[in-house]
Amino acid sequence: MNDEIVARLRAAVGPRGFTEDPAEIAPHLEEWRSKYKGRATLMLKPTTTAEVSAVLAICNETRTPVVPQAGNTGLVGGQIPFEGEVLLSLSRLNRIRAVDAADASMIAEAGVILATAQCAANDSGLLLPLSLAAEGSCTIGGTISTNAGGVNVLRYGMAREQILGLEVVLADGRVLDLLRTLRKDNTGYDLKQLFIGAEGTLGIVTAAALKLFPKPATRCTAFLAVPDVNAALTLLARVQGATGSLVNAFEILPRIGMEFVLKHIAGTVDPFRTPATWYVLCEASGAAGVEAVFEAALATALSDGLASDAVIASSETQRAALWKLRESMSEAQKKEGPSLKHDVSVPVSAVADFIAKSIAAVKVALPSARPVPFGHLGDGNIHFNIQAAKDADMASFLARWDEIARVVHDVVRDFGGSFSAEHGIGVMKRADLARYKSPVELDLMRTLKGSLDPKNILNPGKLVPE
Ligand code: ZN
Repeated sequence: MNDEIVARLRAAVGPRGFTEDPAEIAPHLEEWRSKYKGRATLMLKPTTTAEVSAVLAICNETRTPVVPQAGNTGLVGGQIPFEGEVLLSLSRLNRIRAVDAADASMIAEAGVILATAQCAANDSGLLLPLSLAAEGSCTIGGTISTNAGGVNVLRYGMAREQILGLEVVLADGRVLDLLRTLRKDNTGYDLKQLFIGAEGTLGIVTAAALKLFPKPATRCTAFLAVPDVNAALTLLARVQGATGSLVNAFEILPRIGMEFVLKHIAGTVDPFRTPATWYVLCEASGAAGVEAVFEAALATALSDGLASDAVIASSETQRAALWKLRESMSEAQKKEGPSLKHDVSVPVSAVADFIAKSIAAVKVALPSARPVPFGHLGDGNIHFNIQAAKDADMASFLARWDEIARVVHDVVRDFGGSFSAEHGIGVMKRADLARYKSPVELDLMRTLKGSLDPKNILNPGKLVPE
């Protein structure tokens, strides 16, 4: 990047809108899994859509590649800039422009932290149901650009299903204003959908109109010991039937995962005296009175042998303690040592078979590795992680990442599943995209990229295969 371009970009955002300080830029060049190490000498920090527009106009004219980043919580390297790229941080574009209780909607800018948006909805007596482990640092723009999932997908859908409208800056700097809060709008192509899950490769999301929901009066949270995955699914059907589909989260973790959490995460306690093979966290929410049917359904499940033990949270503190067992899974695995990670989905009815077949396939290649499948059983999304054996040589274990991913993703394909359920493609899964998508899908993706970003300045090298 030459000095003249740098000067123009600095002028576009003003003296407080950029940094060239390596110490300030450094945390933005590494991601949580430390798989990718980025490089950038200029980080822009615009505070308005107009500034983002001015930046992209310059980048497009000068063919300068630009990488958008907000909370830097992505797990596939999509937010990391490399040599010669400008880093565009959206974290200062962080105003909540409106909360409309009558319309049950909110307009929030890309850099608003997800937890802040949840609080703003709550203050208006409403619920923003999008919820994930990173919600204290991930942002609205990032969750939209990655079509984030999380723990409430079963009831409320992915990020995509919670978006009413978007404001997007196109590659050439034009602002596409689709910030409508309509629930019905059949006026041709639904253009906003193009930018959801596009990882900043087709445009940069600067604001979104989000769908809000009535705030449930009651939340019932239970933790159960279950014999196997199919028993857990029968239990889910029972609770859905009893409550009228009010289950918002249905998460599963295996005993080995529970052991990692108890060993590495301070303040966690096993809710049960006897170890179980699998654990389920089941939460339903709705009007007062849900507790009675929820508890009755669990009591029947216990007497029918679908669960061997159960505890129901009787306070917010207990609820938080149960959720901590689930939400600490990734951190506990990180402390246990390296693991190979797969974020996959299969039809809900096939999860048990998928787990069994994948474990068998992985054991052929890595006999002593320790599979830790866990996640969002209610929607068929399993984080199929393989922990290294205790005595494994870490470098040679991690060197087999691509080989083992191929083994797992081939099993996923055999079940008609997805090799990336909620984490996206980024850098990490581009080769998988090329392998598992049909030639027609790939061709359409490249056509969209070519028409919306003809100079390939928007997050190049991410998502779309060469
Ligand atoms: Zn997840």
